[in-house]
Amino acid sequence: MDARRVGLFGGSFDPVHNGHVALARLALAHLALDRVVWIPVGHPWQKARRLAPADHRLAMVRAAVADEPRFLVDDCEIRRPGPSYTLETVHELRARWPGVQEWFLLLGEDQYAGLPTWHGWQDLVQCVTLAVAARDARVPVPTGALRAVPHRLEVLPLPTWPVSSTLVRQRLAAGQDVDALVPPAVARYIACHRLYLTD
Ligand code: ATP
Repeated sequence: MDARRVGLFGGSFDPVHNGHVALARLALAHLALDRVVWIPVGHPWQKARRLAPADHRLAMVRAAVADEPRFLVDDCEIRRPGPSYTLETVHELRARWPGVQEWFLLLGEDQYAGLPTWHGWQDLVQCVTLAVAARDARVPVPTGALRAVPHRLEVLPLPTWPVSSTLVRQRLAAGQDVDALVPPAVARYIACHRLYLTD
């Protein structure tokens, strides 16, 4: 890949929604990134809930990002056996794309606050600059263990996007439309495959 500044955007994307797209687009512009690599989680070790099949989540992310050539979608976490640790993903992608000069990890504020629970997080913050967006009006502030461990932090000035995958799933299970919450291609995919009909 011919890119110097690359953002990694991991998530369950169950399903991908407009808040995810807004965050990734803002990161492209605000951080002057050459690429954002979307990485649907394969085997989440922190979410108790069973996710929709990986093939569907991957296809929905592909549909959501198809109109932006600087967005890539990578299935490394889906293909890799075992729990999906972001640290392993970063090592894998650094080895695959040695020309990249700076790696950014895109996160919402909720994930940033929970970072000290991640496997190998202290090593992870040595490898990447964290690019963190406010979520539900909560701005990223290092607290607790995050204050004790030096890390590079860029705050993304994302306006509030009052949307979550949970809300999308709940509306679908209640028979409500989600046209205002997900990209049109994702709404079509969900309808076509009859996803999330039960909560
Ligand atoms: P769920 O409701 O199932 O927990 P989610 O909406 O939080 O899902 P994820 O796929 O878990 O979606 O999120 C991927 C990343 O995007 C995380 O870093 C999360 O913080 C961030 N994110 C998701 N929605 C928003 C939003 N509305 N505003 C800012 N960041 C967001």
